[in-house]
Parts: sequence; C-alpha cells; structure tokens
Amino acid sequence: MNILFIEDDNIELMKLRRTVSKLKLKHVITEARNGEEALQKLGSDDTLPDIILLDLNMPRMSGIEFLKILKAHDTLKYLPTVILTTSENRADLLECYKIGIAGYVIKPLKYEEYQSKLQKVLAYWEANELVKG
Ligand SMILES: [Mg+2]
Repeated sequence: MNILFIEDDNIELMKLRRTVSKLKLKHVITEARNGEEALQKLGSDDTLPDIILLDLNMPRMSGIEFLKILKAHDTLKYLPTVILTTSENRADLLECYKIGIAGYVIKPLKYEEYQSKLQKVLAYWEANELVKG
C-alpha cells in the first residue's frame, strides 16, 4: 500500500519505517511533518495514498484540523484515515470519529507492542478494498 504518514516526531517516523522494514512489508511510506505539508502533498502528487496514518499533536496544523479539511474535500474525503496517537483523551477520540476516521490507535510505549499493533492495523487495511485514487 501507499501510506501517507503525517507525524511531526522524528522518533515516530523512524519507528514506523523500522517496523515496515523489519517485518519485510512492501508498503511505500510518504511522510509529512504536519497537516499543511500533508495537504500540499495530497494536492501535488499524481497518486493518492491508500491510507493515511495521522498523528494528532503537531505544530502548525493539528491532526483534527487536518482531518476536518480532508473530510470536507470532494475527493480526498474517501481516503481511510487512521489516527495514530499517544492521546487517550476521550474528547479527541469522539471528535475524530464524528468527523470520520477509519480507526483510532493508541501507540504503545514499548517498541515490541508498537510493532505488533502496527502489523495488525496494516494487515487489516491490506485485506480491505481500497479507494485507489
Ligand atoms: Mg506529534
């Protein structure tokens, strides 16, 4: 799958890359540092991602602000977006489901648990019919 990973933290970017390569998964990951950069990428790239993994706490444009713009867009609104966050804030969770998400995943602190959780999430999405932009 083509995955757009929107995340401001270098360590988190590294963790996902490491998980994908360690599990020998064939996903192509494009990274954006915040919502603004992600919107630029979505507007300029020829092919859309199959899924978006979205952090919530980011500078410039938060995950929720990005999600609102995405879900109000005529074509981008179809992209399945999975929240990947450390926020256990119930208000965030409810807000995200209300706007429209494909999942809300709390990042485990332990790397092994992170890896096994991400493996399941990515396998689940691989089993799905994707929009194909
Ligand atoms: Mg963050």
